Amino acid sequence: MSQILNQIHSSDIKDILENSLNGIRPGPDDCIRLLESDDVHLMGLTAGTLTRKKFGQKASFVNNIILNYTNVCITDCKFCAFYRPPNHEESYTLGLDEIELRIKTAWDLFKIRQVLIQGGHNPDLGIEYYENSFKMIRKKFPQVGVHGLSVSEIDTIAKVEKSSTKEVLSRLKDAGLQSLPGAGAEILNDQVKEIISPKKIMSKEWLDIMEEAHTLQIPSSATMMYGHVESNKQIAEHFEKIVHLQEKTNGFMAFIPWSFEPNNTVMQKDGTITSGAGGYQLLKMIAISRLVFDGLISHIQSSWLTNGVGMAQLALQYGADDFGGTLIGEEVVSCTGSRSTELTSRQIIDSIHQIGFEVEERDNFYQTVCNYQIP
Ligand code: SF4
Repeated sequence: MSQILNQIHSSDIKDILENSLNGIRPGPDDCIRLLESDDVHLMGLTAGTLTRKKFGQKASFVNNIILNYTNVCITDCKFCAFYRPPNHEESYTLGLDEIELRIKTAWDLFKIRQVLIQGGHNPDLGIEYYENSFKMIRKKFPQVGVHGLSVSEIDTIAKVEKSSTKEVLSRLKDAGLQSLPGAGAEILNDQVKEIISPKKIMSKEWLDIMEEAHTLQIPSSATMMYGHVESNKQIAEHFEKIVHLQEKTNGFMAFIPWSFEPNNTVMQKDGTITSGAGGYQLLKMIAISRLVFDGLISHIQSSWLTNGVGMAQLALQYGADDFGGTLIGEEVVSCTGSRSTELTSRQIIDSIHQIGFEVEERDNFYQTVCNYQIP
């Protein structure tokens, strides 16, 4: 600790980092200063110290299949390469039999503990589609947790059903929905949303529906998609909104900052963004996430999906404690064509062991399934 304090002493963000080591989280102005600072390694050293204090030399992951059940969507987000409009020749929606087959195969081969369910805003799917799917999964695969649907998908189902989002959440919980992945937040600032996803729910709706879920005892992750049109001030606003809701509900289990992947998106084609934010920015976001949420949101994910395994190993030393999931079957990010989006649990375990950390396999509630010692 004294070595770290000596290094911090000469930094322009020393007051913020010293406060963090003393248990005082950065506020919105501090957050902007962190975002504007180039002292990424010092932020990482501080965030890593806080993380090791809480978790030791250990990182977790979840053995996970992702079920992108439909690519039909009417929301036309400019950052999305995955969706197809209704009746497009490449559009698809998985039937109940196909969903069962995919989960059975993943259970038989990999003993998955979670199915992450996400898809487009498909106006032809009523709530029964989701209820039948969740009931089937919980009945036939009781060891597989149902971690599903962004709050904007919840909003879409409510509109299709002419019902309230609270009623939809309640019915889906009764059918077997256990936790929400927290997607669809992007940056919780409406000026940003008007540019990148004008047809999607705005910031207040995202926060309100998330609060309803937490009130119904449906815990969730929170996400942030950075690296497009947002400013540092708007990123700080995003952090602050998540902090406020967490102080109110304590329903967020994890925070996942992930970088926008522009390949094959409208935003790349129109020249708005031509390349991803890169590893330096990832490490900064991971470190700031730990500092901002220390003592408030337990888990920070490494975000390997958009940054690769090597960066995830570094992220685990810069404030992340969770590698994320195996994501067998992922189709959203793979539509950007930039890298492989599947990892086996063996590859994740080996990657974590390579940096000298023990491995904990977890379920969707971050409960321990088993431990893997370093060989
Ligand atoms: S990000 Fe989701 S809501 Fe937006 S276009 Fe893609 S599938 Fe539709």
